[in-house]
Amino acid sequence: MEIKEQQFRIQGLALSDLAQKYGTPLYVYDGEKILQQVEKLKTAFSEVTMRIKYATKALSNINILKLMKKAGTGVDAVSIEEIKLCMHVGFQPQEIMYTPNCVSFEEIKEAVELGVMVNIDNIPMLEHFGTEYGNTVPLCVRLNPHILAGGNAKISVGHIDSKFGISILQLKHVLRIVEAYNLNVIGLHVHTGSDILDAEVFLKGAEILFDAAKEFKDLRFLDFGGGFKVAYKIGDITTDIHEIGKKVSNAFKTFCKEYGRELELWFEPGKFLVSECGYLLVKTNVVKSTPATTFVGVDSGLNHLLRPMMYDAYHDVVNISKLDGPERVYTLVGYICETDTIAADRKLKEVKEGDIIAIKNAGAYGYSMASNYNSRLRPAEILLFRGKDFLIRERESFEDILRNQPMVDLE
Ligand SMILES: *Cc1c(COP(=O)(O)O)cnc(C)c1O
Repeated sequence: MEIKEQQFRIQGLALSDLAQKYGTPLYVYDGEKILQQVEKLKTAFSEVTMRIKYATKALSNINILKLMKKAGTGVDAVSIEEIKLCMHVGFQPQEIMYTPNCVSFEEIKEAVELGVMVNIDNIPMLEHFGTEYGNTVPLCVRLNPHILAGGNAKISVGHIDSKFGISILQLKHVLRIVEAYNLNVIGLHVHTGSDILDAEVFLKGAEILFDAAKEFKDLRFLDFGGGFKVAYKIGDITTDIHEIGKKVSNAFKTFCKEYGRELELWFEPGKFLVSECGYLLVKTNVVKSTPATTFVGVDSGLNHLLRPMMYDAYHDVVNISKLDGPERVYTLVGYICETDTIAADRKLKEVKEGDIIAIKNAGAYGYSMASNYNSRLRPAEILLFRGKDFLIRERESFEDILRNQPMVDLE
């Protein structure tokens, strides 16, 4: 009984029980945590008219989208498929922002026909848009302010070499196109990258956007993208959302006064809303010692959680099968035939074969980046809500791997 009390619990449910009930590897999401994060953001920006457009790509299970809808957010989609997922869940086209990069104009047209607002991120598409729609369809323009932010080159999207957005240095060109086609630009957007630490980076982006905004007459909103950092390990510096809220709101109110109209302030957080809610539960297949290292080899890998290898991301790990006793240093690795270190040199309670390890902060860019590499099956997903566990995605089966692969006659 006492051991039971010590178990890693979320909403009263023990993660080890969930691993037993559904098997591993298993993604588990704490729905209440998501709602708390939404509220936190709303509270921080309560002084202005703020709209949240959840970045669908972070975690796109339709039940997570449904929870966002329940929490009153809109969504940001980066592909026509994400738009369709959001509409499937019941989001109205006007609640969806479409922020594509390097997609065809056909796809942009499809989004317009669905009634979704498009955020244009290059000059050729802006001209196509003008030719096709003139001033009949409102749009947003994505600018790149060239601010360096973010913890990793791959997630810093504001720098000068970045493929994202229209360079702020090309603003004059944008304005000429807007004038030539009489474009109805109702929003301006910047997204400088993930892992933004402090209010100053946001404010720097804001100042540049405010300056540009003065050149557009019909704006209704300014969109500051996503990128709020969350804590990945104890002691991590995280975005002080209340400080950002206060400072950005003040700057925004001052700008609106100058602009002569109350605008809406939009954000598109992904990680901030869904990172901490997620746990990837994996089972220890083998504890393998080499002269240098003790490896814990688990039944998952970069096929299910790419972030450690792709972004050098740090994920806290816990042996939930053993919550007391001595600790030892381990390196947690996957079963993929590729170096797929999940966590290097970490202290864990002594690990035995069969022990369940919880990988934390696995909600954002976990399942959504998962693949079938090594012909492995993708995990099931569980949503915990109001003390109950819901299966929100079946574990894949071998039939799923074979699907769409017709066997052709090579004779
Ligand atoms: C990925 C993305 C986001 C979300 O970024 P986070 O770091 O998860 O907050 C927001 N806006 C756009 C346009 C994106 O591509």
